[in-house]
Amino acid sequence: MHCEGREGMKELQYDVLVIGAGAAGLAAALEVSRNNASCALVERESHLGGILIQCIHNGFGLEEYKEELTGPEFAERQVQAVRAADVDIFTDTTVTQLNAENDRKEAYCYSAVYGVLRISVRAVILAMGCRERNRGNIRTPGTRPAGVYTAGLAQRLVNIEGYIPGQDVVIVGSGDIGLIMARRMTWVGAKVHAVIEIQPYPSGLTRNIVQCLNDFDIPLYLSHVVSRIEGKQRVEKVQVSPLTNGIPDEENSFEIPCDTLLLSVGLIPENELSKEAGMEINPQTNGALVDATMMTSIDGVFSCGNVLHVHDLADWVAEEARRAGAYAVRYLRNERPKRQIRIKAGANVRYINPAMFDPDNPDKLYFRSLIVKNQAKLQIKLDHKPVKEVRLSHVQPSEMLHVKLKPKDVAGWNIMKDSVLEVSIE
Ligand SMILES: Cc1cc2nc3c(=O)[nH]c(=O)nc-3n(C[C@H](O)[C@H](O)[C@H](O)COP(=O)(O)OP(=O)(O)OC[C@H]3O[C@@H](n4cnc5c(N)ncnc54)[C@H](O)[C@@H]3O)c2cc1C
Repeated sequence: MHCEGREGMKELQYDVLVIGAGAAGLAAALEVSRNNASCALVERESHLGGILIQCIHNGFGLEEYKEELTGPEFAERQVQAVRAADVDIFTDTTVTQLNAENDRKEAYCYSAVYGVLRISVRAVILAMGCRERNRGNIRTPGTRPAGVYTAGLAQRLVNIEGYIPGQDVVIVGSGDIGLIMARRMTWVGAKVHAVIEIQPYPSGLTRNIVQCLNDFDIPLYLSHVVSRIEGKQRVEKVQVSPLTNGIPDEENSFEIPCDTLLLSVGLIPENELSKEAGMEINPQTNGALVDATMMTSIDGVFSCGNVLHVHDLADWVAEEARRAGAYAVRYLRNERPKRQIRIKAGANVRYINPAMFDPDNPDKLYFRSLIVKNQAKLQIKLDHKPVKEVRLSHVQPSEMLHVKLKPKDVAGWNIMKDSVLEVSIE
């Protein structure tokens, strides 16, 4: 590390900068340090661990640690490992600008603790996570009373700030955060009247439907929307409408009196910094388009975790981030794949990550289904010819799927320079 001050701005030099210290940033920084590269880890909050800290339920770590942990326990294991490694950690520090077009990349950071920092590095790993969609994103008509929260904010209020946002609750969206909050609000003494889901199937993990709704007799209305929010100062009631051919059916609408509406209506990767840096974004994921080494369209800038695509499990985030960390170090050593071919999402697949495949170093592919199906078949085709099939007992859009390709899978493939690999679900 090299540090000098100039006109109030501290200038620092490292091999790698990791932006964000959630499950992704912590795993990536640890991997960089394990490979003997110098690493700065910058986090805008005063704590490390990102969203994990407010997820006090269990269900974390079964893959990563072969144990069922809570979010803070999962984070604590990662934080201990990073603190024991040679990583310089900057909390309360926000990266506000990334100039990444040159060989040495520069990040400008503002910090209540360190002042203004300019960190100069050869490689950057983006691990900024994602943020919640809100009422503006779903355009629900009605008045604009207090009492409408995103589910993640409500989770933070209850679990970290010790504040219960309301007593009579309706939840919009059956994503995992909404389901977890249905149970959490019940446990803190509130009445959760219903979860309203626009899709004809739940958006969260099956285990969360069972453990967070069914176990507490909380009704789930599929193919329904909250079509109106009513209230003067505070929310007083919501109107719920079934969908007929995708349109709210006013005649069969009903009202639910409530003082709180929690929105769990999706997450958006936090890529403002990436977009300003000129990065190509995948419209399917709202994350960067990455090659087989997790490198974005900007040379030397890598992406992983929820800022790349929204994950369901922290374990997958950590696994993916380790790969990004390892590839960033290979990049420092000028080790690049000899060849890469394009991977494309085929029938019933929403997206596939990464978007390129290195036949000499086959690795894990993450993807999401567009359909709900039992006994589905994953098919991989090379230039329209089937090369691998995998049976999947159940697929649904809310559960991230993955397949690991091994050198023996690829051995007999006739790969040309412009070959395309296609992943589909039948
Ligand atoms: C309610 C809920 C329940 C969940 N339940 C489970 C579960 O049961 N099991 C499971 O395995 N997973 C679960 N998950 C998923 C898992 O927790 C996340 O996918 C994972 O922790 C995300 O890690 P991340 O590092 O990508 O993002 P985050 O944890 O969001 O970390 C990103 C970090 O980047 C920082 N940052 C952003 N921009 C900047 C910037 N410009 N400068 C500096 N820092 C910045 C943020 O402050 C944040 O700390 C759950 C998630 C939620 C929200």
